[in-house]
Amino acid sequence: MSNPSEVVFRVAVGMVVVTWFAVRGHFQKKVGSSKKISSHHGRREKRSYMLVSVSFLPILLYVFTSPFSFAHIAIPSWLRWAGLISGLSASGLFAWTHFALGKNWSGLLEIAKDHELVTGGPYRFVRHPMYSAFFLMGIGVLLLSSNWLVGGLNLAAVTAMYLVRVADEEAMMLGHFGQSYQTYMDHTGRVFPRL
Ligand code: SAH
Repeated sequence: MSNPSEVVFRVAVGMVVVTWFAVRGHFQKKVGSSKKISSHHGRREKRSYMLVSVSFLPILLYVFTSPFSFAHIAIPSWLRWAGLISGLSASGLFAWTHFALGKNWSGLLEIAKDHELVTGGPYRFVRHPMYSAFFLMGIGVLLLSSNWLVGGLNLAAVTAMYLVRVADEEAMMLGHFGQSYQTYMDHTGRVFPRL
């Protein structure tokens, strides 16, 4: 490890990633066994989901070693610290979305038994706040690490997952909830709140 301040940024990235996975682990344990009545995911969705998981590996490598120092970008320290705010907000939003979705959450596109349409909590403002959290996390890691490869790979994977899934997910929700979901769509943005 080179510059002592780099170590601080690595620890900060590590902390952000640990809070993220702690949230996912907690909720996965809680709702993992809920019964599903239909699955709407194809190979593309599964692959994009895996790609996002794999894109966390370079982040972990960045925390413990320095194979990617060639991809360092010089940005001011304050901007890197803004990445910590983004990363921690991402974990907070991630927890909030999981809490709001409860047993209706699934990693892949599925409808659970007695699935309820959630329109409260963060879902009051946007239809896909969990994906907003993924984007915030990618931006946080990119800024904190100031490494285009480490942050860029994660952001690229999240963008791919979002593009592959979002239309299919909305079609699935429309198919199951019909007019209620249509009305909900009319009042909310996808990842940004409507002005
Ligand atoms: N796209 C959402 C949820 C991601 S988890 C977000 O970004 O916050 C994916 C699962 O959540 C889907 O399989 C779907 O079953 C469920 N889901 C998505 N939106 C929902 C909603 N408003 N209410 C209930 N379940 C929802």
